[in-house]
Amino acid sequence: MLGKSPSWQDVDGACSGYLVEENGTRVLLDCGNGVFSKLRRFSDYVDVDAVVISHLHADHFLDLVPFAYALTYAPRQQPVPVDRWPGTDSPARPILYTPEGGRATFRRVVGAWGNEDLIEKAFDLREYGADAVLQIGTLTVRFGAVPHFTPTFAVDIVSTNGGGRFTYGADSAPNEAIVRFADGTDLLMIEATLPRPEREGPRGHLTPAEAGEHGSRARVGRLVLTHISDELDEAWAAAEARKAFKGEVTVAREGVVFDL
Ligand SMILES: [Zn+2]
Ligand SMILES: [Zn+2]
Repeated sequence: MLGKSPSWQDVDGACSGYLVEENGTRVLLDCGNGVFSKLRRFSDYVDVDAVVISHLHADHFLDLVPFAYALTYAPRQQPVPVDRWPGTDSPARPILYTPEGGRATFRRVVGAWGNEDLIEKAFDLREYGADAVLQIGTLTVRFGAVPHFTPTFAVDIVSTNGGGRFTYGADSAPNEAIVRFADGTDLLMIEATLPRPEREGPRGHLTPAEAGEHGSRARVGRLVLTHISDELDEAWAAAEARKAFKGEVTVAREGVVFDL
């Protein structure tokens, strides 16, 4: 768990970013602001096989910018020796899976300072549709559309090695799609952004109590609440979720590792 803040970072924190590892396969799920430096603490960024973006909101992709700069300008990525790095003919170029429209969005963001192709040159950028099934090393990745303010996909990751199943709900309003999509998963990581439901306008996020209800209806093994600010009381959030969900409830914390 690299970062769990909602759209503004916790003290010393990072927005959404989760590193999924199995037998040398490394997938970075979302890459929000602050995530790149947290990633470096736990894994070498050149060893990331793929980055999967759930939706095109800043708190889920902004650190693709520093990640792309590292892949482009880091001494070890150059074809000639620099400092202690020997030079390489095959610099790391992780695959970047984004929802449709990702390429255009990233071009607008980095194009603001005249660097339009920064991200698509640094990464092997591929846009996925809702029906995509990805094989990344030993991990199979599927998507499920969930209601939010922009096209957004929950992500399901299953080991082909007999390991467990992990489901990430991304950001969403209350919905049945995530209940069906996550049905029976070993661990559901679900957002619990709101201290109370939105006062006006369309719903876009969940309260901790709603997160618990969704986990209960989806009959999941364990529930992890994420996308929650350090300005809310963690114990309160967990207690709210436990009203409906009778299994283990954990509130996400940076650096925490879940084994499946
Ligand atoms: Zn969002
Ligand atoms: Zn978000």
